[in-house]
Amino acid sequence: MTQASPAKNTDDTPTVDMKDIVALCKRRGFIFQASEIYGGLNGFWDYGPLGVELKNNIRDLWWKAMVTTPPIGPDGEPLQIVGLDSSIIQNPKTWVASGHVGGFSDPMVDCRQTKRRYRADHINILQPKDGEGHWLAVPQDDDEGISEKRLKKFGKGKSIGAFEATPLPEVNTSDYDKIIGPDASEPGTLTEPKEFNLMFETYVGATQSEDSKAYLRPETAQGIFLNYKNVLDSSRVRIPFGIAQIGKAYRNEVNPRNFVFRSREFEQMEMEWFCHPDDAKQWREFWIAERKRWWESIGIKSESMILREHDRDELSHYAKEGEGTLDIEYQFPFTYPGFGELEGIAHRCDYDLTQHQEHSGTKMQYIDPDDNQNRYIPHVIEPASGLTRAVLTVLCEAYTVDPDRPSGMYLNFKPSVAPKKAAILPLVAKDGMPELATKLYMDLREDMAVDLDIKQNIGKRYARQDEIGTPFCITIDSDTLQDQTVTIRHRNTMEQERISIDKVKEYLTEQLGQMA
Ligand code: ATP
Repeated sequence: MTQASPAKNTDDTPTVDMKDIVALCKRRGFIFQASEIYGGLNGFWDYGPLGVELKNNIRDLWWKAMVTTPPIGPDGEPLQIVGLDSSIIQNPKTWVASGHVGGFSDPMVDCRQTKRRYRADHINILQPKDGEGHWLAVPQDDDEGISEKRLKKFGKGKSIGAFEATPLPEVNTSDYDKIIGPDASEPGTLTEPKEFNLMFETYVGATQSEDSKAYLRPETAQGIFLNYKNVLDSSRVRIPFGIAQIGKAYRNEVNPRNFVFRSREFEQMEMEWFCHPDDAKQWREFWIAERKRWWESIGIKSESMILREHDRDELSHYAKEGEGTLDIEYQFPFTYPGFGELEGIAHRCDYDLTQHQEHSGTKMQYIDPDDNQNRYIPHVIEPASGLTRAVLTVLCEAYTVDPDRPSGMYLNFKPSVAPKKAAILPLVAKDGMPELATKLYMDLREDMAVDLDIKQNIGKRYARQDEIGTPFCITIDSDTLQDQTVTIRHRNTMEQERISIDKVKEYLTEQLGQMA
């Protein structure tokens, strides 16, 4: 199933610089650093007026594709998928049963000199091949050229080719005294790796004790497993069926980085598909194809994604090779020419339901309504993706450099995700043009998200709409006053055409429909 698609371009550099995307997000109100006026808080982000619209549009498209109008199954009938909105804080036994209390951790090393902490599996150790000199610790995804800088400083004039890179977890701890940490200036300051649990802890009620300790959910999935019986008993779903949920999840990530890609508070879109164990393999293939298609439907080009089967050492203990987790990965500017995870499609077997059955004592068996003897714990196929990571992906994919326009770029959003579908711009703020523009705006706003922008020169207003990815700009000018026609400017081509003002709604509906 794994197939590596060709890379987006074959140069060494991505077409878009992350710094430009981050700057645009702040300038135009998509994404701000959380608590910015207090210096921010690492790993937390706020979605501004346009960011929340973009996020809600993606969220609604996922919900529609999963719950409102789920896909047609292999038998030609629509699949049964119902929605859920479970609590962020659950009984802490949930996370013992799911394995998160015992196992949801990363191996960490601390630097005694700089007091910084690193994920051991994100660090490479550069060892001189000739055995002479220090060993240098550098980040694995070295997008800032740190290895080169460190080599210049500590490498005794050797070039990168004179070193061999080994992931830190594979280095013997007895050799740690030779290593200069990623930000250190002397060798031997890294501690041995320790496990660090990623769940945020809190206390429920007035007393803070071990007994009142609870956790912010690190994934939305467990809320679904906890409600599997409730959903079965209260609705008319039968195996196979799905339960879908969108909501916040929290992970105390050691190194939140790459803008919102890895944050400590984020949103997930997860669906648990409950099926007969014998059918799980086939459903896994079904969902892989379906999810890839969905990403394409929101504007992610097929060649910007790859499907990657987890390697043997990444597989959960219950998963079979080639039937475990497959990731849909995207070629982000900061992973380029590599790819980063967008979504995981996992065969979770009966692991979670069995764990909750054992820990809670509640039976999780499914009894076939047509055959009472046919009882089993369903297997689960889980497409799990990040909504906030999807926002970043859509922004990266849409960002198009174009030196021929004043903004130097535009966001090539699909209309379905664009925060504004059209903008109405009177050429000047006089001669009755604002009034005509307002009239058109009042008519269109009933049907679609439109922007009315009256002030500033027209070039600046076009630039703003290009930067926020509005597919169409409608300009009211002096001719409009004479012949009741307006100019429609197409975002991607900048081509303009004139149509009658009373045809604008029909025209936009048709065009936006065609581009959907
Ligand atoms: P990673 O290996 O990158 O830590 P994961 O494999 O643990 O991620 P899952 O538990 O499978 O991730 O979560 C499902 C989805 O949730 C991911 O594909 C990703 O889109 C999103 N996600 C996970 N962690 C984060 C995070 N810290 N910030 C933003 N999105 C995240």
